[in-house]
Amino acid sequence: MLKVEGLSKRFGGLLAVNRVSLKVRPGEILAVIGPNGAGKSTLLNLLSGLLLPDEGRILFRGEEITHLPPEARAWRGLGRAFQIVSPFPEMTVRENLLVGALFGKPGTPKREAERVVEEVLELTGLAPKAHHLAGELTLLEDKRLELARALATRPNLLLLDEVMAGLRPKEAQEAVGLLQRIRARGVSILFIEHLMPVVRALADRVVVLDYGEVIAEGRYEEVTQDPRVREAYLGR
Ligand code: ADP
Ligand code: MG
Repeated sequence: MLKVEGLSKRFGGLLAVNRVSLKVRPGEILAVIGPNGAGKSTLLNLLSGLLLPDEGRILFRGEEITHLPPEARAWRGLGRAFQIVSPFPEMTVRENLLVGALFGKPGTPKREAERVVEEVLELTGLAPKAHHLAGELTLLEDKRLELARALATRPNLLLLDEVMAGLRPKEAQEAVGLLQRIRARGVSILFIEHLMPVVRALADRVVVLDYGEVIAEGRYEEVTQDPRVREAYLGR
Protein backbone atom coordinates (compact mmCIF):
# COMPACT_ATOMS: atom_id res chain seq x y z
CA MET A 1 0.00 0.00 0.00
CA LEU A 2 2.67 2.46 1.12
CA LYS A 3 6.44 2.19 0.92
CA VAL A 4 8.76 4.86 2.28
CA GLU A 5 12.45 4.65 1.46
CA GLY A 6 15.16 6.70 3.16
CA LEU A 7 13.01 9.76 3.73
CA SER A 8 14.78 12.82 5.21
CA LYS A 9 13.66 16.36 6.00
CA ARG A 10 15.83 19.19 7.33
CA PHE A 11 14.70 22.43 8.93
CA GLY A 12 17.86 24.54 8.78
CA GLY A 13 20.40 22.63 10.83
CA LEU A 14 17.83 20.27 12.33
CA LEU A 15 17.34 16.83 10.79
CA ALA A 16 13.66 16.38 11.74
CA VAL A 17 13.23 13.14 9.74
CA ASN A 18 16.36 11.08 9.20
CA ARG A 19 16.38 8.30 6.57
CA VAL A 20 13.06 6.82 7.56
CA SER A 21 11.96 3.68 5.78
CA LEU A 22 8.68 1.92 6.49
CA LYS A 23 5.79 0.06 4.90
CA VAL A 24 2.06 -0.14 5.36
CA ARG A 25 0.52 -3.32 4.00
CA PRO A 26 -3.00 -3.49 2.53
CA GLY A 27 -5.57 -3.56 5.36
CA GLU A 28 -2.93 -2.91 8.00
CA ILE A 29 -3.02 -0.43 10.89
CA LEU A 30 0.43 1.00 11.59
CA ALA A 31 1.11 3.25 14.60
CA VAL A 32 3.95 5.76 14.60
CA ILE A 33 5.00 6.69 18.13
CA GLY A 34 7.90 8.51 19.74
CA PRO A 35 8.70 11.31 22.19
CA ASN A 36 7.74 14.94 21.55
CA GLY A 37 9.78 16.40 18.72
CA ALA A 38 10.71 12.95 17.34
CA GLY A 39 9.57 13.94 13.84
CA LYS A 40 6.21 12.16 13.70
CA SER A 41 4.14 15.07 12.39
CA THR A 42 6.88 16.02 9.94
CA LEU A 43 6.83 12.46 8.60
CA LEU A 44 3.04 12.62 8.18
CA ASN A 45 3.34 15.99 6.42
CA LEU A 46 5.83 14.44 4.00
CA LEU A 47 3.41 11.58 3.32
CA SER A 48 0.42 13.85 2.72
CA GLY A 49 2.44 16.30 0.62
CA LEU A 50 2.28 19.34 2.91
CA LEU A 51 6.09 19.15 3.01
CA LEU A 52 8.57 17.86 0.44
CA PRO A 53 11.53 15.71 1.51
CA ASP A 54 15.21 16.50 0.99
CA GLU A 55 15.94 12.85 0.33
CA GLY A 56 14.12 9.59 -0.19
CA ARG A 57 11.06 8.26 -1.97
CA ILE A 58 7.41 7.62 -1.23
CA LEU A 59 5.59 4.93 -3.19
CA PHE A 60 1.82 4.63 -2.90
CA ARG A 61 0.07 1.66 -4.50
CA GLY A 62 3.11 1.10 -6.68
CA GLU A 63 3.38 4.68 -7.91
CA GLU A 64 5.97 7.22 -6.86
CA ILE A 65 4.23 10.20 -5.22
CA THR A 66 7.26 11.82 -3.52
CA HIS A 67 6.79 15.22 -5.15
CA LEU A 68 3.05 15.27 -5.88
CA PRO A 69 0.93 18.03 -4.30
CA PRO A 70 -1.56 17.02 -1.55
CA GLU A 71 -4.66 17.02 -3.82
CA ALA A 72 -3.00 14.69 -6.31
CA ARG A 73 -2.21 12.30 -3.46
CA ALA A 74 -5.80 12.53 -2.19
CA TRP A 75 -7.14 11.73 -5.67
CA ARG A 76 -4.98 8.61 -5.68
CA GLY A 77 -6.51 7.41 -2.39
CA LEU A 78 -4.28 8.89 0.29
CA GLY A 79 -6.60 10.48 2.84
CA ARG A 80 -5.65 12.75 5.68
CA ALA A 81 -8.07 13.25 8.55
CA PHE A 82 -7.48 16.83 9.42
CA GLN A 83 -6.95 20.39 8.57
CA ILE A 84 -5.82 20.52 4.98
CA VAL A 85 -9.04 22.46 4.66
CA SER A 86 -10.99 22.90 7.89
CA PRO A 87 -14.72 22.13 7.82
CA PHE A 88 -17.00 24.88 6.56
CA PRO A 89 -18.68 25.97 9.82
CA GLU A 90 -21.67 27.61 8.14
CA MET A 91 -22.49 24.47 6.17
CA THR A 92 -24.25 21.42 7.57
CA VAL A 93 -22.46 18.19 8.39
CA ARG A 94 -23.98 16.56 5.30
CA GLU A 95 -22.94 19.45 3.03
CA ASN A 96 -19.39 19.29 4.38
CA LEU A 97 -19.24 15.60 3.57
CA LEU A 98 -20.71 16.14 0.12
CA VAL A 99 -17.94 18.63 -0.65
CA GLY A 100 -15.40 16.00 0.45
CA ALA A 101 -17.05 13.29 -1.65
CA LEU A 102 -17.33 15.47 -4.78
CA PHE A 103 -13.91 17.11 -4.69
CA GLY A 104 -11.89 14.35 -3.02
CA LYS A 105 -12.09 12.51 -6.31
CA PRO A 106 -12.95 14.94 -9.12
CA GLY A 107 -15.46 13.62 -11.62
CA THR A 108 -17.48 11.74 -8.99
CA PRO A 109 -21.14 11.80 -10.10
CA LYS A 110 -23.42 13.62 -7.63
CA ARG A 111 -25.56 10.54 -7.02
CA GLU A 112 -22.50 8.43 -6.20
CA ALA A 113 -21.22 11.18 -3.86
CA GLU A 114 -24.60 11.28 -2.09
CA ARG A 115 -24.52 7.53 -1.60
CA VAL A 116 -21.02 7.73 -0.10
CA VAL A 117 -22.11 10.55 2.22
CA GLU A 118 -25.02 8.49 3.61
CA GLU A 119 -22.68 5.55 4.19
CA VAL A 120 -20.10 7.72 5.97
CA LEU A 121 -22.81 9.39 8.11
CA GLU A 122 -23.94 5.94 9.29
CA LEU A 123 -20.43 4.60 9.83
CA THR A 124 -19.25 7.57 11.91
CA GLY A 125 -22.47 7.90 13.93
CA LEU A 126 -23.05 11.40 12.56
CA ALA A 127 -26.38 10.58 10.88
CA PRO A 128 -28.45 12.24 13.66
CA LYS A 129 -26.33 15.40 13.19
CA ALA A 130 -26.52 15.47 9.40
CA HIS A 131 -28.54 18.70 9.34
CA HIS A 132 -26.58 20.47 12.08
CA LEU A 133 -24.14 23.21 11.22
CA ALA A 134 -20.53 22.03 11.36
CA GLY A 135 -19.64 25.06 13.49
CA GLU A 136 -22.03 23.91 16.24
CA LEU A 137 -20.63 20.45 16.97
CA THR A 138 -19.08 19.20 20.22
CA LEU A 139 -15.37 18.32 20.27
CA LEU A 140 -16.10 14.61 19.84
CA GLU A 141 -18.51 15.27 16.95
CA ASP A 142 -15.94 17.59 15.41
CA LYS A 143 -13.35 14.80 15.46
CA ARG A 144 -15.90 12.47 13.89
CA LEU A 145 -16.53 15.04 11.18
CA GLU A 146 -12.79 15.29 10.46
CA LEU A 147 -12.64 11.54 10.06
CA ALA A 148 -15.87 11.47 8.09
CA ARG A 149 -14.60 14.11 5.66
CA ALA A 150 -11.47 12.08 5.02
CA LEU A 151 -13.59 8.94 4.55
CA ALA A 152 -15.91 10.73 2.12
CA THR A 153 -12.96 10.98 -0.28
CA ARG A 154 -12.86 7.14 -0.21
CA PRO A 155 -9.22 6.69 0.78
CA ASN A 156 -7.25 3.44 0.53
CA LEU A 157 -4.93 4.69 3.25
CA LEU A 158 -5.91 7.06 6.03
CA LEU A 159 -3.28 9.24 7.76
CA LEU A 160 -4.14 10.39 11.29
CA ASP A 161 -2.11 12.71 13.53
CA GLU A 162 -3.18 12.45 17.20
CA VAL A 163 -6.89 12.53 16.41
CA MET A 164 -7.70 11.38 19.96
CA ALA A 165 -6.13 14.48 21.53
CA GLY A 166 -8.51 16.07 24.05
CA LEU A 167 -10.91 13.12 24.17
CA ARG A 168 -11.95 11.53 27.47
CA PRO A 169 -11.00 7.84 27.90
CA LYS A 170 -14.51 6.64 27.06
CA GLU A 171 -14.62 8.82 23.96
CA ALA A 172 -11.19 7.59 22.89
CA GLN A 173 -12.51 4.03 23.27
CA GLU A 174 -15.42 4.89 20.96
CA ALA A 175 -12.99 6.36 18.46
CA VAL A 176 -10.94 3.14 18.58
CA GLY A 177 -14.11 1.20 17.70
CA LEU A 178 -14.78 3.55 14.81
CA LEU A 179 -11.27 3.14 13.41
CA GLN A 180 -11.66 -0.64 13.67
CA ARG A 181 -14.89 -0.43 11.66
CA ILE A 182 -13.12 1.73 9.10
CA ARG A 183 -10.35 -0.83 8.76
CA ALA A 184 -12.95 -3.59 8.41
CA ARG A 185 -14.06 -1.74 5.26
CA GLY A 186 -10.62 -2.41 3.80
CA VAL A 187 -9.04 0.98 4.57
CA SER A 188 -5.40 0.87 5.72
CA ILE A 189 -4.48 3.30 8.51
CA LEU A 190 -1.23 5.00 9.53
CA PHE A 191 -1.75 6.85 12.80
CA ILE A 192 0.32 8.91 15.21
CA GLU A 193 -0.83 8.59 18.80
CA HIS A 194 0.57 9.28 22.23
CA LEU A 195 -2.15 7.42 24.16
CA MET A 196 -0.57 4.00 24.62
CA PRO A 197 -3.85 2.12 25.34
CA VAL A 198 -5.08 3.33 21.96
CA VAL A 199 -1.87 2.18 20.25
CA ARG A 200 -2.15 -1.23 21.92
CA ALA A 201 -5.82 -1.62 20.99
CA LEU A 202 -5.46 -0.59 17.36
CA ALA A 203 -2.01 -1.16 15.91
CA ASP A 204 -1.01 -4.31 14.05
CA ARG A 205 2.52 -2.94 14.03
CA VAL A 206 4.32 -0.03 15.67
CA VAL A 207 7.19 2.10 14.36
CA VAL A 208 9.09 4.13 16.97
CA LEU A 209 10.81 7.39 16.02
CA ASP A 210 13.42 9.23 18.09
CA TYR A 211 15.34 12.26 16.84
CA GLY A 212 13.89 11.64 13.38
CA GLU A 213 15.11 8.05 13.16
CA VAL A 214 13.32 4.71 13.33
CA ILE A 215 14.70 3.12 16.51
CA ALA A 216 12.33 0.14 16.74
CA GLU A 217 9.61 -1.60 14.78
CA GLY A 218 7.37 -4.53 15.59
CA ARG A 219 4.31 -5.56 17.56
CA TYR A 220 3.22 -3.35 20.47
CA GLU A 221 4.48 -5.83 23.08
CA GLU A 222 7.87 -6.08 21.35
CA VAL A 223 8.62 -2.39 20.88
CA THR A 224 7.45 -1.38 24.36
CA GLN A 225 9.93 -3.86 25.87
CA ASP A 226 12.78 -2.59 23.69
CA PRO A 227 15.50 -0.95 25.84
CA ARG A 228 16.15 1.79 23.24
CA VAL A 229 12.47 2.69 23.22
CA ARG A 230 12.27 2.79 27.03
CA GLU A 231 15.35 5.00 27.15
CA ALA A 232 13.98 7.34 24.48
CA TYR A 233 10.81 7.94 26.52
CA LEU A 234 12.56 8.17 29.89
CA GLY A 235 15.19 10.50 28.48
CA ARG A 236 12.72 13.36 27.94
P1 ADP B 1 6.53 15.33 16.73
O1 ADP B 1 5.31 15.40 15.89
O2 ADP B 1 7.11 13.95 16.81
O3 ADP B 1 6.35 15.91 18.10
P2 ADP B 1 7.58 17.23 14.80
O4 ADP B 1 7.61 16.49 13.53
O5 ADP B 1 6.47 18.18 15.02
O6 ADP B 1 7.68 16.21 16.04
O7 ADP B 1 8.94 18.04 14.97
C1 ADP B 1 10.20 17.44 14.78
C2 ADP B 1 11.26 18.50 15.00
O8 ADP B 1 11.23 19.42 13.90
C3 ADP B 1 11.09 19.32 16.26
O9 ADP B 1 12.36 19.60 16.78
C4 ADP B 1 10.39 20.56 15.76
O10 ADP B 1 10.69 21.67 16.59
C5 ADP B 1 11.00 20.73 14.38
N1 ADP B 1 10.07 21.36 13.41
C6 ADP B 1 8.87 20.91 13.05
N2 ADP B 1 8.32 21.68 12.10
C7 ADP B 1 9.22 22.67 11.85
C8 ADP B 1 9.25 23.79 10.97
N3 ADP B 1 8.23 24.04 10.13
N4 ADP B 1 10.35 24.58 11.00
C9 ADP B 1 11.37 24.32 11.82
N5 ADP B 1 11.41 23.29 12.66
C10 ADP B 1 10.36 22.46 12.70
MG1 MG C 1 3.34 15.98 16.32
